[in-house]
Amino acid sequence: MTQATLGGIKHYARKSLRLGAWLDSPGDGRVAGVIPARDLVWASLAGLFLRIGSALGTARTLTKASQRSTAVMHTFGDDALHYFTERMSVDALRRTLYALARRAKRSKAFDHAAHIGLAIDGTGVGRRTECRCPWCLPVHNSSGELLGHTHKLVALSIVGVGLPLLLDVEPIGPADSEYVAGQRLLRRAIELLGRGFADYLVVDGGFATAPFLHVATALGIPIIARLKANIPSLLQQAEQRFHLHPPCDRFEEGKDTFELWDEIFPPWETLDWTSVRVLRYRQTKPDGTVIEAMWLTNMAKHTMGSRSLARAAKARWEIENEGFNVAKNQYHFAVIRHHQGNSMLVQWLMTVLAIDIERLYRIRFLHRGTHPIMESIALWNALWSSLEPRSWHWSRAPG
Ligand SMILES: [Zn+2]
Repeated sequence: MTQATLGGIKHYARKSLRLGAWLDSPGDGRVAGVIPARDLVWASLAGLFLRIGSALGTARTLTKASQRSTAVMHTFGDDALHYFTERMSVDALRRTLYALARRAKRSKAFDHAAHIGLAIDGTGVGRRTECRCPWCLPVHNSSGELLGHTHKLVALSIVGVGLPLLLDVEPIGPADSEYVAGQRLLRRAIELLGRGFADYLVVDGGFATAPFLHVATALGIPIIARLKANIPSLLQQAEQRFHLHPPCDRFEEGKDTFELWDEIFPPWETLDWTSVRVLRYRQTKPDGTVIEAMWLTNMAKHTMGSRSLARAAKARWEIENEGFNVAKNQYHFAVIRHHQGNSMLVQWLMTVLAIDIERLYRIRFLHRGTHPIMESIALWNALWSSLEPRSWHWSRAPG
């Protein structure tokens, strides 16, 4: 297991994950690119596997190492990477990610889970002083003075199956909102995954708006959304009724006690559902700490029972813990490498793809045999150790 190399991951991505066609032809928009697109796309992914936070760092590291150890055939500078990502096809990259998810499902990667979930959630990334891209959001101080620009996006992940895979991102523009960007993302996801791919979509309270719920309903995906104070009428009704009624289920797991309330309510004014099912979940720890949350859904009880619904609702945390936290803390997801619209979108999606390839590689997805699961840090160490110095020189200098 310590023999992992960039070449080995490339071979795995090409053969086992069938990413060869995209790796060879990723949608190159350059007019007269000297360095082949397949080298630059692999170099970008290699820089992500090595967790290098800049195009300059990627170019320098890969140029110093031997061709054999990096599987990159040409040397290049950070300018070449920027020029390439400014023009690379976002559409082809997104289709590659969704195809990978469909292949994982067809290969029974999620078969041990009773339900396949999708989660959509928003996060903030990279601040810059200058406004240079279509998604720059101005940041003001309390007296209205412009301090700079930040960026926000919504992302989509497979959850609830023990193998969280991030699949797509959608930036939030200045005249936009999280739940409107979320609708664009959800429409694209269902179009490219197909109806019936997932059993439910789980989202935080910010998405629990009638327009977002209506889009999910029209797309045929059942939805579970956190019930918070932004729907005061339903929240109040549920609190009052659950206060009077005993829990419908009570069980112990480990040292914790769980109580569930699960009842049907009328929809609020703007929601076109015939009814809303609300689940309250209460976890009491031995020291008396209580964790409590409410969720709303349009799924019938015979489709998903109370305990399964509570588990599905909690799967939303995977997009934060296994998605955003991993991406930001380990892969520099929040760092803007090149402040240009297409390049940023490519970088975010490439990071998502690199994390997925690494995750599938570490668990030896589609590899026959009894390989143990490799720790993320062990793979990272192995990849750095596998880099050999380049013993000959190209005429072109890095950077
Ligand atoms: Zn910007």
